Amino acid sequence: MDISAIGLNISEEHRAAAETAHRFAMEVMRPAGITLDKMSDPRDVISRDSILWKVYKKHRELGFHKGAIPKAMGGIQEDVDALTAILVQEQLGYGDAGLAMSFGVSMMPFIIASIFAKPEIEGFVREYCEDTEGKMVGCWAFTEPDHGSDWILGAQPGFDQPQYAPSVRAIRNGDDYVLQGQKSSFISNGAIATHGAIYVSLDRSRGMKGTGIAFLPLDLPGVSRGKPMDKLGLRSYSQGEIIFEDVRIPEWMMLIPDSELALNISQTLFAAANGSLSLTFVGLAQAALDEALKYAKTRIQGGRPLIEHQSIKLKLFNMFTMVESARAYARQVALESAMQPPGSAKHSLSAKILATETAYHVASEAIQIHGGYGMSREFFIEKLFRDARVGMLGEENNSLALLGASYL
Ligand SMILES: Cc1cc2nc3c(=O)[nH]c(=O)nc-3n(C[C@H](O)[C@H](O)[C@H](O)COP(=O)(O)OP(=O)(O)OC[C@H]3O[C@@H](n4cnc5c(N)ncnc54)[C@H](O)[C@@H]3O)c2cc1C
Repeated sequence: MDISAIGLNISEEHRAAAETAHRFAMEVMRPAGITLDKMSDPRDVISRDSILWKVYKKHRELGFHKGAIPKAMGGIQEDVDALTAILVQEQLGYGDAGLAMSFGVSMMPFIIASIFAKPEIEGFVREYCEDTEGKMVGCWAFTEPDHGSDWILGAQPGFDQPQYAPSVRAIRNGDDYVLQGQKSSFISNGAIATHGAIYVSLDRSRGMKGTGIAFLPLDLPGVSRGKPMDKLGLRSYSQGEIIFEDVRIPEWMMLIPDSELALNISQTLFAAANGSLSLTFVGLAQAALDEALKYAKTRIQGGRPLIEHQSIKLKLFNMFTMVESARAYARQVALESAMQPPGSAKHSLSAKILATETAYHVASEAIQIHGGYGMSREFFIEKLFRDARVGMLGEENNSLALLGASYL
């Protein structure tokens, strides 16, 4: 495997970690991602006998799920330096961006729980870290049918009015809270998650600014799921609604009852998620470039391989330039975030936008190089193109660059 290492001091340990991730990406994630993508019914993707669970198990055995959780709570955070995490994430995106996103989201509630550790919740974090089967799967649920971008923009001025209040409410009832409402069909891992970080309205009069974050197991009475979404791309991972009907939780499950803190931590989490997504989609962009190169070396037209035609060579070189630029920026932003947490929200958002748009553009050019075969579902590039397109939508929609502009 050839690691693009420009500007970085990559040690043998880094290289070994990237090699391990690359093997997992190519031997386990890539073939499973292709199989899952071809399933016409999204319920098959998550059925108990789905290959998805073998991939989850292997990911857990490698310990990739606990890299952001401190040792004191069963994780390995102190042993994983920022560069290792960056190289691993790129490889996971190279293998299959959908599965990489599923793994990333799965960590979220446990990471949040590890930051705001309460004695009652610590046990869940430890159990997650020890899970080598993929039995514990997390989700991070903020959006609702009536509030999508509102959640992303919620910290901006003006969103403190009651009309912006989230529809999932947590109502105080004695020592407990009672949850009511529905999260959107976009919730990553929504149909399979066993535990969730659920954003709730605590004070409707304060709109988006009156929110809290609860951590809860999703097998409590009153929790139900919608059916997994049938979607254009990233089909290897499941998204779906979560519905709360009179779900009673003890006070300690309201992990962050302080709205100011909930908003602040959310900005940090969005920045971290965008950082991770940018690396994932740099991986996808590299995969698309590699597919184009492979095809251009073997397809003969005009009596010689496509790559020997100057116009194709130039196209490939432009694609290479774009991938390397997006990679350098995504890595730099991730390194800065690790050195000075929580990092810069505007840089993380712009890195995510650059990486996903690069992945989309490079995948589109790669399809062009494949000619008519580019549209065939038999060719892997067709899947990469669909996956790249969906990457521009989630989790912070790229057209919300206006949010980035508000940071300037
Ligand atoms: C792959 C993927 C994974 C996701 N994972 C999760 C998850 O794990 N958890 C979760 O809670 N959600 C998740 N989402 C949901 C995601 O956060 C929302 O799709 C996103 O916030 C946009 O909301 P929406 O789709 O309802 O679009 P809308 O908010 O309805 O927006 C529609 C269009 O209008 C634009 N727009 C919206 N508001 C404004 C405004 N005020 N000014 C100008 N333009 C505006 C948007 O940019 C967009 O182009 C995911 C989505 C995707 C695609």
